[in-house]
Amino acid sequence: MPDASTTVRTATCRCGALQARCVGEPVRVSVCHCLACQQRSGSAFAAQARWPEEDVTLSGDSRTWVRIADSGHRATYTFCPTCGSTIAYVIEGWPGVVAIPVGAFADPDFPAPRYSVYEHRKHDWAEIRGEDVRHSSDTRIPGKDGKLIP
Ligand SMILES: [Zn+2]
Ligand SMILES: [Zn+2]
Repeated sequence: MPDASTTVRTATCRCGALQARCVGEPVRVSVCHCLACQQRSGSAFAAQARWPEEDVTLSGDSRTWVRIADSGHRATYTFCPTCGSTIAYVIEGWPGVVAIPVGAFADPDFPAPRYSVYEHRKHDWAEIRGEDVRHSSDTRIPGKDGKLIP
């Protein structure tokens, strides 16, 4: 169990029925400009934070949808059947890690992204700022351990 100093954040769908409780700091915060993320989010790019799956607890009614990513991996999205918000997704190329859309935390103070990927699909007017942001137009980008992550 986390002690009192451990940060706990809760992502919530728009209607509030589906929640993801995330314990501790995310292992990765990134922005993705790929077309699938644009369609998923309904925005010009998507921001997401990732935690080890054991640190994320989903509660509420949900459905899942699977798509095959450009990498060939299956991506499984968990969304609220009432309001449609995606609250979590997993990619089989990165087992044990869950991605949560940053917007679902409704927290403007959420940690800034350190990775900006799929920039070859980026809208011209969009710019992810920050000196330590890693930019990539590859479909994959090295993670902390040097492993390529979709
Ligand atoms: Zn909902
Ligand atoms: Zn994407």
